[in-house]
Amino acid sequence: MDVDEFRVRGKEMVDYICMYMNTLRKRRVTPSVEPGYLRAALPSEAPMHPEPWDDVMGDIESKIMPGVTHWQHPHFHAYFPAGNAYPSILGDMLSAGIGCIGFSWAASPACTELEVIMLDWMGKAIGLPPAFLPFEEGSKGGGVIEGSASECVLVSMLAARAAGIKRLKHQFPTVDEGLLLSKLIAYCSKEAHSCVEKAAMISFVKLRILQPDEHGCLRGETLKEAMEEDEEAGLVPFFVATTLGTTSCCSFDNLPEIGPVVRKFPSVWLHVDAAYAGSSFLCPEHKYHLAGIEYADSFNTNPNKLMLTAFDCSLLWVTNKYLLTSALVVDPLYLQHCYDHTAIDYRHWGIPLSRRFRSLKLWFMLRSYGISGLQKYVRRHCELAKYFEQLVRKDSRFEVVNQVKLGLVCFRLLGSPDENHETVDELNKKLLSTMNASGKIHMVPASVRDQYVIRFCVVYQHATREDIEYAWDTITDFATELLEGPDKERDLNEERARRHRAALAHKRSFFVRMVSDPKIYNPAINKTPPPMPTSPGTPPSVAPASPDTPSEAGSIQLVPSTPKQSSWISWPLAFFFQSVDHDANDLPLRFRHLDTMVRLKSPNHGRRGSSPGASPERRAPSPSAN
Ligand code: PLP
Repeated sequence: MDVDEFRVRGKEMVDYICMYMNTLRKRRVTPSVEPGYLRAALPSEAPMHPEPWDDVMGDIESKIMPGVTHWQHPHFHAYFPAGNAYPSILGDMLSAGIGCIGFSWAASPACTELEVIMLDWMGKAIGLPPAFLPFEEGSKGGGVIEGSASECVLVSMLAARAAGIKRLKHQFPTVDEGLLLSKLIAYCSKEAHSCVEKAAMISFVKLRILQPDEHGCLRGETLKEAMEEDEEAGLVPFFVATTLGTTSCCSFDNLPEIGPVVRKFPSVWLHVDAAYAGSSFLCPEHKYHLAGIEYADSFNTNPNKLMLTAFDCSLLWVTNKYLLTSALVVDPLYLQHCYDHTAIDYRHWGIPLSRRFRSLKLWFMLRSYGISGLQKYVRRHCELAKYFEQLVRKDSRFEVVNQVKLGLVCFRLLGSPDENHETVDELNKKLLSTMNASGKIHMVPASVRDQYVIRFCVVYQHATREDIEYAWDTITDFATELLEGPDKERDLNEERARRHRAALAHKRSFFVRMVSDPKIYNPAINKTPPPMPTSPGTPPSVAPASPDTPSEAGSIQLVPSTPKQSSWISWPLAFFFQSVDHDANDLPLRFRHLDTMVRLKSPNHGRRGSSPGASPERRAPSPSAN
């Protein structure tokens, strides 16, 4: 394709996108294809000779589109919004056109400098404290665009891990880093996004997952108890991940309580994940959610969720860029340049070397909407969710199960009073799967207070009250059919049997996967018993529920000193050991891992008793060399 043809085809492509946007309503929201549909429709090898452009484009409509889930569809209410405003699409287009790779300042100075400035504009607009901003007097802070919120969490954890190991190494210079690593423990709420657990797996650290309160909010006291208990047990708290706007139910952790707790422990890194909610802080009326942010070391948000910006655009700010970059720096000769002491080289701020000119998207978005235009969008988004909430509350067959603060409403059918918890869950699963299968609307479930709920998110950029009413009419039509249809009981039984047969397939299914619920990817969490009260003064014990539980599981439940807290620890690489042959091991694997850890701590003392958790060695105050 030469430049003249590109000019023509480029305009045609814009026309095609406009046609797509304008006719979205006529399409099903979700495709009705089976896995492998596309392989059957395409040749098994790449063409040897060039094909006419019109043929290639023609196949988009006939072959690709039937398998597309239309995230920009007015009836798509799943997950969170996937920003896609035209100025950001044009920003992406220009970035592709310029085609520079901005890994260092010298590799394309404008690419780096615009990113620094856009992060400064954004940080100020959402109300981050000066410590996060690059140009403030005495600030060591700054921001960067990463590929996803998961990456933001991971690099923050890696930076905290490096700082934690460095500190321990200073204290215990002769102890091997591997042993020091085994002492580190991170924390998050059960409501945190699964990317925190993934980050812990990659970082090879333990993660203690804590029970939030009844509103899905992690409280300071819960964190304090857990951190003190672990410190007492010889572990070293190093990272706390909090969330403002959780994925399941858009709850907010209590930063003003958590911050002071974290600060009581030496050098613990506090991260705040506001992937969805962060853009709402552009509005003064939502800024109160940022209370306590002054305690944080890092903060991330995705303008590609609630700020209309096309994926990918995940913003991460830190208060100490040196801690971040010292964890990620590698500096071969071919990447060095004569300004590397005075300019930022973003390759040290993340995992990949190569990076696109993503700040152009923010440039076009911020300038063409202005903060006021973005505020207007956020406000309409929240108002429509409130409207949907009102509609649900008016229908006595349903309940709303979350506090609706932004654009997410979690609701469920109540079922009849004689129906038990499981039957009501089944009823809601049935309702959701029928609606999704119809192609008329798309939502996903979540688990809120251990109940199966349906998440309704306002997603469509130009959503109106009519769209919300359409959604509610569709939901209530399906609900009426389900509740008053002729064979409700038989239907439910059939559904249960079908689910049982297809359990594995279901776990993988796009339509029924829970959002950010550790139970879904970690079956052990379902199996761990409720917390057992122990007598006062009893040391915390690590208690596999039964000999076979831990090797099946990705976690071990900590029996807490008070019955109110239930939490579990995710162990690095636990999943790799799931298929371990139980008979070949006298102790389950992770149990033995812990045992190894205990013995490393205190080589001169033999194991006392069969429970490592109850052994005094586990309570050793600090790591020691073997
Ligand atoms: N954190 C929160 C609170 C989220 O809601 C999500 C996704 O919805 C993520 C992290 C992961 O986002 P990403 O897909 O950008 O990694």
